[in-house]
Amino acid sequence: MDHNSSNIWAPGGVIQDSLGSKPQAGAAQALIPCALEGVGKDTPLELLLPWLDVTVGTPAVELTGTLEWLMDVGAWTDMKLVLLLSALLGASLGLETFVGDQVLRVKTKNEEQVQQLQLLESLEHLQLDFWINPSAPALPVDVRIPAASVQSVKAFLESHGIEYSILIEDLQDVLDKEKQDMAKAAQRERSAGFDFGTYHTLDDIYAELDHLASEFSFVEKIQIGQSYEGRPLYVLKFSTGGSNRPAIWLDAGIHSREWVTQASALWIANKGFLGQQIVDVLDSLPQKPGCVPGPGASKNPCSDSYHGPSANSEVEVRSVVDFIKSHGNFKAFLTLHSYSQLLMYPYGYKCTRPADYAELESLGRAAANAIKSVYGTTFQVGPICTTIYQASGGSIDWAYDNGIKYSFAFELRDTGRFGFLLPASQIVPAASETWQGLRRILEHVLARQG
Ligand SMILES: [Zn+2]
Repeated sequence: MDHNSSNIWAPGGVIQDSLGSKPQAGAAQALIPCALEGVGKDTPLELLLPWLDVTVGTPAVELTGTLEWLMDVGAWTDMKLVLLLSALLGASLGLETFVGDQVLRVKTKNEEQVQQLQLLESLEHLQLDFWINPSAPALPVDVRIPAASVQSVKAFLESHGIEYSILIEDLQDVLDKEKQDMAKAAQRERSAGFDFGTYHTLDDIYAELDHLASEFSFVEKIQIGQSYEGRPLYVLKFSTGGSNRPAIWLDAGIHSREWVTQASALWIANKGFLGQQIVDVLDSLPQKPGCVPGPGASKNPCSDSYHGPSANSEVEVRSVVDFIKSHGNFKAFLTLHSYSQLLMYPYGYKCTRPADYAELESLGRAAANAIKSVYGTTFQVGPICTTIYQASGGSIDWAYDNGIKYSFAFELRDTGRFGFLLPASQIVPAASETWQGLRRILEHVLARQG
């Protein structure tokens, strides 16, 4: 879970709702120019995503981005289905290693300790990377600490009597292992085809999109824009025709280090939407016609939660917003993130209940039950604000306030044992349980269309 877990994140920016308020006290104060790289120094994990390109070891590492999924609900009404997938966000970064970097889980006892952690967060020279930000005493805080800062941070915590444990001893070890696993899987794939149980490079993901588009007549790859660095923003659309039908948006990997989300989205497209399961759902349906600065956003353009100079200022965000607005008929906006096992609905930028609170809450609970029925994984349900903390610029807030009632953000596995570095062996379980939750929501949305 990132600081702004539901934000559409783009290099140097997050999606903006136009309703936010002032920046949160304690947000980074300095404006650090990092536009050249597109991604700030304090987001180095982005570098290590499955998208680590084969050019590893050269000065510039190609890194990707994110995937967007859309599904046209109208397509379902005549056995047609639309799913769009796009690749967003890209950046060329210098190579960096993580030898000796540790990830700590910090447990605060009271508000004072939370504030001490927030102070720590503001010390930019430490280059801390909060995986879960300090917000309330009841919530754990996970933080990646560069090797050079490990001793001073531990000393700080101990001197303030703040409890912590080590989640990851040496981040580079974990990443090396993941790279080895990816290499082995890549070898297997040469003979066995796409392996959903492993992480992939952006090129591999693109190839799989092309494969889907060529394999199924109702799958189409389209481009909705271009990234800041000139990469095409692809969207994979599942449809057998027609235009402007009621639609569902599903995205994954908006925060690119949330590896399991892109991997889950690929599984869901193949095994969920395209698999037998979707036929069951379709058969059961009647044929019918139918970041403004605010709390939780950062002024620092190098931050994952940077709010951008103005609403929808970043080209990747603008492309998505333009696409959704020009379509004009989206009924659900679903976004996959990790980690923390949460299923959240609006609002995040304010703590008042949405007009559809009762329906969203009960639908969220039903989806969480569906998820739990697969492997017993528990998801906490609620509005963003009361489930985590007040956070501006969230994409589901934007969607909801633009008339898309069924707006949900999923935070997938786990609860912090591996965090963003969820082992590949958990991809398929995470994807299949998430699919059951998604399916529960889709069924509800479809039932309301008739
Ligand atoms: Zn996220």
